[in-house]
Amino acid sequence: MEPQFSFGVIADVQYADNDNCYNFSQTNMRYYRNALPSLRNAVDHWMKDKRNISFVVQLGDVIDGCNTKNGGKAESWRVLSLVMDELDQFPGPVHHLIGNHELYNFTRDELCESKLFSVVNGFMSTQNYNCAREDDSRKKFYYHFSPFEGYRFVIMDSYDVAMLGWGEDCSVTQQSREILTSVNFNKELNSPVGLKGNDRRFVEFNGAIGERQRQWLKEVLQSAENDNEKVMIFGHIPFYPHKKDQMCLLWDYELVLEILHKFSCVVATFAGHLHRTRYTLDANIHHICIPAVVETPPGSDAFGTIDVYANRIILNGHGSVESEEFIYRQNVLAQEVAVGSVATKKELADHSI
Ligand code: ZN
Repeated sequence: MEPQFSFGVIADVQYADNDNCYNFSQTNMRYYRNALPSLRNAVDHWMKDKRNISFVVQLGDVIDGCNTKNGGKAESWRVLSLVMDELDQFPGPVHHLIGNHELYNFTRDELCESKLFSVVNGFMSTQNYNCAREDDSRKKFYYHFSPFEGYRFVIMDSYDVAMLGWGEDCSVTQQSREILTSVNFNKELNSPVGLKGNDRRFVEFNGAIGERQRQWLKEVLQSAENDNEKVMIFGHIPFYPHKKDQMCLLWDYELVLEILHKFSCVVATFAGHLHRTRYTLDANIHHICIPAVVETPPGSDAFGTIDVYANRIILNGHGSVESEEFIYRQNVLAQEVAVGSVATKKELADHSI
């Protein structure tokens, strides 16, 4: 049976003209130069795919933070242009998410002038695009669109409240530092040393959806629920704690999950950042984490093509992305959800992120 529509996903390309080296915890090799041909291979595949691949979601960290160390801002722009040249080969829209590595390379103002700011990608003039509210001077990277009748896709900004990207003088940076330092007592705030369980998420390379974006998300989900749409949500940082990986997690994940659980329209979330395949079924929501391109050795792949059907999605994995079928569980009423599976929201509420 033909899918209703299909789209591509790819995560953590992290391209840099840099020698291979191990990640911070010395467990995984990063193949920086191979990331570009690997991205090219994904785009080629989507273009030749017999199915019509309507669009691609790039889940963030498309270039690596080490570019600034290699050659300053000029190198960041050069490398971004190489990556975008590859993605520009794809004839449809590419939806970009903001990851921590974008914010190591660029300020938010600079990102707004780049091709990573979806508003300048051209396709935003279509009726399907609904820009985030314009009543705030802070630049927004979150928006929603309908790729097909009956579906709503939500692109989230995992760093709307974060230490990264806003600049030292910005109140968001100061607020974020207060959040972090109230939990993380390390001098190096990227270190989780001393933090236990899900508290390990309080590190500088993570961030929060934040209050204004959560309010916006609530409105989008309410509207989707009223219109009987199915919703898929995309963020760079995972939305749900995996028992094996508690560090790569939104600071305010509990408050975000509380919102998602109020609506039965949400069928899945997609994230990167973790660099591994991870999956959790939480109530009626499939939480899917896509592994990183940069940690895929030459000769292998790391991308997915998702077929969307009326009752399920099929992730067709390539290389390190595993293939899987996810059946919608909307028949599970939101009220019957085991809310107990979500930890107390007190901690984050106290920080009023
Ligand atoms: Zn990341």
